[in-house]
Order: sequence, then C-alpha cells, then structure tokens
Amino acid sequence: MTESQPESFPSVPLLALDTLWFQVAGTVCNLRCTHCFIACSPHNHSHAMLTLETVRRYLKEAEELGVREYYFTGGEPFMNREMLPILEETLQLGPATVLTNGLLLDPRRCAKLKALERSSEYSLDVRISVDGWGPGDHDRIRGMGTFNRAMMGVRRLWEAGLNPVLTVTELAEGVASPSGRERFMEQLRCVGISKPRLKVLSLFRMGAEERRERGYQPWERLEPGTTVDPEKLQCGSGRMVTSQGVYVCPILIDFPTARMGQTLRETLRPFQLAYPACYTCHVLGVTCRT
Ligand code: SF4
Ligand code: SF4
Repeated sequence: MTESQPESFPSVPLLALDTLWFQVAGTVCNLRCTHCFIACSPHNHSHAMLTLETVRRYLKEAEELGVREYYFTGGEPFMNREMLPILEETLQLGPATVLTNGLLLDPRRCAKLKALERSSEYSLDVRISVDGWGPGDHDRIRGMGTFNRAMMGVRRLWEAGLNPVLTVTELAEGVASPSGRERFMEQLRCVGISKPRLKVLSLFRMGAEERRERGYQPWERLEPGTTVDPEKLQCGSGRMVTSQGVYVCPILIDFPTARMGQTLRETLRPFQLAYPACYTCHVLGVTCRT
C-alpha cells in the first residue's frame, strides 16, 4: 500500500482525548480470519501483548488527561493472561469495552467478568464479532466450528448476567437493511437473549482482507481540501496504545508513520488523513466505538 505526501491530505484535530484503546493482545490471535485488517494470527508478533505494568502507566496518564472510556482489542484480548487484572484496574477509572471473538469465554471467565462489572461503578461491555447469520459465512471467514463456539460465548455471558454487543461485519448478508438486522435480532432472541444489541462494521481493505477480496483502489483517498468532521472520526477524540507506543487509531497500527509518540501527551496534536482507510472512515462514517 502506498502513501502520498502527507501535506496533500486533510488534517483532523484532536478535540479531546475521550477514548483510549489498548492493543492488549498485540497482533496475536487464536484465529486467522481471512478479512482481518491487521492480519492477526497465532504467529503474528508484530505487536506484542501489553503487560499490566504498561497498561497501568498509560492509565495513570489517561486519568490525568481526563480520558472518559477505555477499549481493549487485539488479536484476542483473552489470550492475555493479565486481562482480568487489567480490566479490574481500568474499571476503577471509567467504563471499559472488550472486543473478542468469543471463543475463550468459558463459564468461569464469564462469572469473573460479571464480578468485575458488579464491583465497579462503571459499565463493562463485551463485544463479540460474527460474520453471518449462521455457520456458513462466519466459518468460511473465521474457521470451522467458530460460529457455534462464538454463540456459546454469547450465551454464557448472558447467563452470567452480561449482555454482549454483537459486532457484525458487512459480509453478513442483508445486514445493512432493517429486515436483515431484524433477522439477526430474532436469531439472538432464539438463543435466549431478550435485549439483543448489534453494531454493524464496514471492512477495511487491507491486511488479510486485501488478499481475500481486494485492496484499496488508487481513487479511494481523501482529496486535498476535503472537509472532515472530527466529531465523526475516532481519531478526533481517541488514541491507541500498543507495545510500540501510541498510534493515532486502532486501524493504522501497521503503519509506522501513524505512530504519534511514546506517551499520550506526545499525541495531543492533529493528524493528517493520508491513508486509504481514512477514506472508509470518512465516506462510510465508520467508528470502532460501540
Ligand atoms: S478479525 Fe479478530 S478474531 Fe479474526 S484474526 Fe483478526 S483479531 Fe483475530
Ligand atoms: S483510519 Fe480512520 S480513525 Fe484512523 S486516522 Fe484515518 S480517519 Fe482517523
């Protein structure tokens, strides 16, 4: 993927650092999904897992800067052995959301997550990713048997007293239509979830997705002079902590030029939208926040 000179692209200010993301599992995952925009896998160590000690250091700085909410992603966050202590410390400061594929949610872990949520004055959300209405599409992308295992994770969280958010990519047939979404809600009600929650995400055409279907076309860039709305872009109010420092957002961690500094304070400045993925965010209004 090529980048043009940053000077030609619009710049987005950081309005306030409201949201802090942690690449808590690095790029290590128990799956190898064919649409993963950072191509995570069991053997991708381009970003390492974050330790509790590292997260603690950034939480302290985040508290000083008035961060309002925290997100944890990977890779698969529950592969990080310190995930629960990390959540425990985070929930002393603000609401937390974990993005997971749902495969490591055994009853004991679900009960512990519920206990953490109960002991905090802030909310704990768990988001589970699916790619279809059933095993067909989902397993083709994520691997044999993963749909039923993810739905098992959904049910276990619900039985433990947590109501997960289902994140569905646009690969799920009909998900963009109200009737498609209603079909999915109905499916969740069928597994016993009376208050289904759904978030639809667009695909970023990079990483493994570039090989699965296609990469970005040369015209998929923001034109010089494009007016962008920082309130609608997550880089207008968030940053991403990784083992290699702080990046502008969760989407661009494979681009060294999107690394903005080692501390949060070093990243409190505008960022130029020089990347094809910025086109997706701007045109489709994509945000990874719940
Ligand atoms: S899409 Fe999610 S579950 Fe799949 S390989 Fe990437 S990080 Fe892992
Ligand atoms: S990819 Fe999206 S969130 Fe990241 S810098 Fe570009 S517009 Fe902002």
